[in-house]
Amino acid sequence: MKYAIISDIHGNLEALTVVLDEIKRRTVDEIICLGDIVGYGPNPAECIATLRDLRIPCLAGNHDVATHDKGVRSTFSPLARLAIEWTTGKLVEPDIAWLRKLPYTLLRDELTFVHASPFEPEEFHYILDADDAAENFDSFTTQLCFVGHTHQPAIFCEDMTGRTVVLGTRAIVNVGSVGQPRDGDARACFGIFDADAWTFAFVRLAYPVDMTAGKIYSAGLPRQLGERLVFGV
Ligand code: ZN
Repeated sequence: MKYAIISDIHGNLEALTVVLDEIKRRTVDEIICLGDIVGYGPNPAECIATLRDLRIPCLAGNHDVATHDKGVRSTFSPLARLAIEWTTGKLVEPDIAWLRKLPYTLLRDELTFVHASPFEPEEFHYILDADDAAENFDSFTTQLCFVGHTHQPAIFCEDMTGRTVVLGTRAIVNVGSVGQPRDGDARACFGIFDADAWTFAFVRLAYPVDMTAGKIYSAGLPRQLGERLVFGV
Protein backbone atom coordinates (compact mmCIF):
# COMPACT_ATOMS: atom_id res chain seq x y z
CA MET A 1 0.00 0.00 0.00
CA LYS A 2 1.47 3.28 -1.12
CA TYR A 3 0.22 6.65 0.17
CA ALA A 4 0.77 10.19 -1.03
CA ILE A 5 0.26 12.56 1.90
CA ILE A 6 -0.34 16.20 1.12
CA SER A 7 -1.05 19.10 3.49
CA ASP A 8 -1.46 22.88 3.75
CA ILE A 9 -2.52 23.66 0.21
CA HIS A 10 -3.82 27.10 1.22
CA GLY A 11 -5.69 27.91 -1.95
CA ASN A 12 -2.62 27.51 -4.15
CA LEU A 13 -4.04 25.82 -7.24
CA GLU A 14 -0.80 25.97 -9.25
CA ALA A 15 1.09 24.05 -6.56
CA LEU A 16 -1.76 21.57 -6.03
CA THR A 17 -2.00 20.86 -9.77
CA VAL A 18 1.73 20.17 -10.12
CA VAL A 19 1.67 17.93 -7.03
CA LEU A 20 -1.37 15.91 -8.16
CA ASP A 21 0.18 15.42 -11.62
CA GLU A 22 3.34 14.05 -10.03
CA ILE A 23 1.34 11.76 -7.71
CA LYS A 24 -0.51 10.41 -10.73
CA ARG A 25 2.83 9.57 -12.38
CA ARG A 26 3.96 7.72 -9.26
CA THR A 27 0.79 5.58 -9.04
CA VAL A 28 -0.11 5.47 -5.35
CA ASP A 29 -3.00 3.54 -3.77
CA GLU A 30 -4.39 6.44 -1.76
CA ILE A 31 -3.94 10.18 -1.44
CA ILE A 32 -4.66 11.73 1.95
CA CYS A 33 -4.87 15.46 2.62
CA LEU A 34 -4.09 16.71 6.13
CA GLY A 35 -6.03 19.95 5.82
CA ASP A 36 -5.62 23.71 5.46
CA ILE A 37 -7.03 23.47 1.98
CA VAL A 38 -7.96 27.16 2.08
CA GLY A 39 -6.60 30.37 3.60
CA TYR A 40 -3.84 32.74 2.33
CA GLY A 41 -4.02 31.68 -1.34
CA PRO A 42 -6.08 33.01 -4.27
CA ASN A 43 -8.00 29.86 -5.32
CA PRO A 44 -9.74 28.36 -2.27
CA ALA A 45 -12.91 27.23 -4.10
CA GLU A 46 -10.92 25.61 -6.92
CA CYS A 47 -8.73 23.69 -4.46
CA ILE A 48 -11.80 22.42 -2.59
CA ALA A 49 -13.42 21.38 -5.88
CA THR A 50 -10.28 19.56 -7.02
CA LEU A 51 -9.96 17.50 -3.83
CA ARG A 52 -13.71 16.90 -3.56
CA ASP A 53 -14.00 15.74 -7.19
CA LEU A 54 -11.11 13.30 -6.71
CA ARG A 55 -12.74 12.06 -3.47
CA ILE A 56 -9.49 12.51 -1.59
CA PRO A 57 -9.99 11.99 2.17
CA CYS A 58 -9.28 15.35 3.82
CA LEU A 59 -8.85 16.43 7.44
CA ALA A 60 -9.88 19.74 8.99
CA GLY A 61 -7.08 22.31 9.29
CA ASN A 62 -7.41 25.43 11.41
CA HIS A 63 -7.94 27.63 8.34
CA ASP A 64 -10.66 25.30 7.05
CA VAL A 65 -12.39 25.47 10.44
CA ALA A 66 -11.94 29.26 10.63
CA THR A 67 -14.22 29.67 7.60
CA HIS A 68 -17.18 28.73 9.79
CA ASP A 69 -15.93 28.94 13.40
CA LYS A 70 -15.46 32.44 14.79
CA GLY A 71 -13.70 31.07 17.87
CA VAL A 72 -10.88 29.60 15.81
CA ARG A 73 -10.75 32.73 13.66
CA SER A 74 -10.27 34.87 16.77
CA THR A 75 -6.97 33.05 17.47
CA PHE A 76 -5.57 34.14 14.09
CA SER A 77 -2.96 36.82 13.46
CA PRO A 78 -4.30 39.98 11.76
CA LEU A 79 -2.79 38.80 8.46
CA ALA A 80 -4.37 35.35 8.64
CA ARG A 81 -7.69 36.89 9.66
CA LEU A 82 -7.71 39.25 6.69
CA ALA A 83 -6.97 36.33 4.41
CA ILE A 84 -9.67 34.07 5.88
CA GLU A 85 -12.26 36.84 5.58
CA TRP A 86 -11.32 37.25 1.90
CA THR A 87 -11.38 33.45 1.50
CA THR A 88 -14.82 33.02 3.03
CA GLY A 89 -16.14 35.63 0.60
CA LYS A 90 -14.97 33.44 -2.29
CA LEU A 91 -16.73 30.29 -1.04
CA VAL A 92 -20.33 29.25 -1.59
CA GLU A 93 -22.46 27.49 1.02
CA PRO A 94 -21.79 23.94 -0.30
CA ASP A 95 -18.03 24.61 0.05
CA ILE A 96 -18.45 25.66 3.68
CA ALA A 97 -20.75 22.68 4.32
CA TRP A 98 -18.06 20.38 2.90
CA LEU A 99 -15.37 21.99 5.10
CA ARG A 100 -17.64 21.63 8.14
CA LYS A 101 -17.81 17.87 7.68
CA LEU A 102 -14.05 17.29 7.62
CA PRO A 103 -12.84 15.05 10.47
CA TYR A 104 -9.90 15.82 12.79
CA THR A 105 -8.34 12.37 12.71
CA LEU A 106 -8.01 9.54 10.23
CA LEU A 107 -6.64 6.04 10.81
CA ARG A 108 -5.24 3.50 8.34
CA ASP A 109 -3.72 0.34 9.84
CA GLU A 110 -0.54 1.47 11.58
CA LEU A 111 -0.93 5.09 10.50
CA THR A 112 -2.58 8.06 12.22
CA PHE A 113 -3.27 11.26 10.28
CA VAL A 114 -4.03 14.65 11.87
CA HIS A 115 -3.61 18.26 10.79
CA ALA A 116 -1.50 19.58 13.67
CA SER A 117 -0.96 17.20 16.61
CA PRO A 118 -2.32 13.85 17.81
CA PHE A 119 -2.78 15.43 21.27
CA GLU A 120 -6.06 17.37 21.11
CA PRO A 121 -6.16 17.47 17.30
CA GLU A 122 -9.04 19.97 17.34
CA GLU A 123 -6.85 22.46 19.25
CA PHE A 124 -4.16 22.67 16.53
CA HIS A 125 -1.05 22.60 18.74
CA TYR A 126 2.26 23.13 16.93
CA ILE A 127 4.89 20.40 16.84
CA LEU A 128 7.95 22.52 16.10
CA ASP A 129 10.78 20.55 17.69
CA ALA A 130 11.75 17.25 19.32
CA ASP A 131 10.42 18.38 22.72
CA ASP A 132 6.98 19.12 21.27
CA ALA A 133 7.07 15.78 19.47
CA ALA A 134 8.04 13.88 22.63
CA GLU A 135 4.88 15.11 24.37
CA ASN A 136 2.73 13.71 21.58
CA PHE A 137 3.78 10.05 21.35
CA ASP A 138 1.33 8.99 24.09
CA SER A 139 -1.54 10.52 22.14
CA PHE A 140 -1.54 7.99 19.30
CA THR A 141 -1.19 4.23 19.24
CA THR A 142 0.01 3.50 15.72
CA GLN A 143 3.59 3.26 14.48
CA LEU A 144 3.48 6.52 12.56
CA CYS A 145 1.58 9.77 12.86
CA PHE A 146 1.52 12.15 9.90
CA VAL A 147 1.03 15.87 10.57
CA GLY A 148 1.23 19.20 8.75
CA HIS A 149 0.39 22.67 10.18
CA THR A 150 3.92 24.09 10.63
CA HIS A 151 4.67 24.03 6.88
CA GLN A 152 8.11 22.63 7.73
CA PRO A 153 8.97 19.08 6.65
CA ALA A 154 10.44 17.06 9.53
CA ILE A 155 10.69 13.57 11.01
CA PHE A 156 10.73 13.07 14.79
CA CYS A 157 11.47 9.53 15.98
CA GLU A 158 10.32 8.32 19.39
CA ASP A 159 13.87 7.32 20.31
CA MET A 160 14.84 10.98 19.71
CA THR A 161 17.93 10.09 17.69
CA GLY A 162 16.76 9.11 14.25
CA ARG A 163 15.62 11.46 11.54
CA THR A 164 14.28 8.86 9.11
CA VAL A 165 11.33 6.48 9.07
CA VAL A 166 12.54 3.02 10.12
CA LEU A 167 10.46 -0.10 10.69
CA GLY A 168 10.11 -0.69 14.45
CA THR A 169 10.64 2.92 15.49
CA ARG A 170 7.59 5.08 16.05
CA ALA A 171 7.75 8.49 14.45
CA ILE A 172 5.84 11.72 13.86
CA VAL A 173 6.27 12.84 10.27
CA ASN A 174 5.52 16.37 9.11
CA VAL A 175 4.93 16.21 5.36
CA GLY A 176 5.51 19.94 4.79
CA SER A 177 3.26 22.24 2.78
CA VAL A 178 2.07 22.04 -0.81
CA GLY A 179 0.97 25.64 -1.14
CA GLN A 180 2.99 27.74 1.31
CA PRO A 181 6.33 26.13 2.27
CA ARG A 182 8.14 27.88 5.14
CA ASP A 183 11.49 26.11 5.25
CA GLY A 184 13.30 28.44 2.88
CA ASP A 185 12.57 26.26 -0.14
CA ALA A 186 9.82 27.71 -2.32
CA ARG A 187 9.03 24.39 -4.02
CA ALA A 188 5.83 22.52 -3.14
CA CYS A 189 6.39 19.74 -0.59
CA PHE A 190 4.59 16.48 0.15
CA GLY A 191 5.36 12.91 1.25
CA ILE A 192 5.17 9.41 -0.18
CA PHE A 193 4.89 6.51 2.28
CA ASP A 194 5.25 2.91 1.09
CA ALA A 195 3.75 0.71 3.81
CA ASP A 196 5.09 -2.51 2.24
CA ALA A 197 8.71 -1.37 2.06
CA TRP A 198 8.13 0.90 5.10
CA THR A 199 9.90 3.80 3.46
CA PHE A 200 9.05 7.48 3.48
CA ALA A 201 10.32 10.17 1.12
CA PHE A 202 9.74 13.89 0.79
CA VAL A 203 9.07 15.17 -2.71
CA ARG A 204 9.82 18.77 -3.74
CA LEU A 205 8.44 20.23 -6.94
CA ALA A 206 8.83 23.62 -8.59
CA TYR A 207 5.55 25.20 -9.70
CA PRO A 208 4.68 28.53 -11.38
CA VAL A 209 5.01 30.49 -8.13
CA ASP A 210 5.06 33.86 -9.93
CA MET A 211 1.62 33.08 -11.33
CA THR A 212 0.21 32.37 -7.84
CA ALA A 213 1.89 35.46 -6.38
CA GLY A 214 0.50 37.57 -9.24
CA LYS A 215 -3.02 36.33 -8.51
CA ILE A 216 -2.57 37.26 -4.83
CA TYR A 217 -1.48 40.80 -5.79
CA SER A 218 -4.38 41.35 -8.17
CA ALA A 219 -6.95 39.77 -5.81
CA GLY A 220 -6.31 42.44 -3.18
CA LEU A 221 -5.00 39.92 -0.66
CA PRO A 222 -2.17 41.22 1.56
CA ARG A 223 0.87 41.61 -0.71
CA GLN A 224 3.23 39.81 1.68
CA LEU A 225 1.28 36.57 1.15
CA GLY A 226 2.55 36.57 -2.43
CA GLU A 227 6.08 37.68 -1.57
CA ARG A 228 6.55 34.94 1.03
CA LEU A 229 5.67 32.25 -1.53
CA VAL A 230 8.56 33.34 -3.75
CA PHE A 231 11.04 32.79 -0.91
CA GLY A 232 9.34 29.84 0.80
CA VAL A 233 9.08 31.55 4.18
ZN1 ZN B 1 -1.42 25.73 7.25
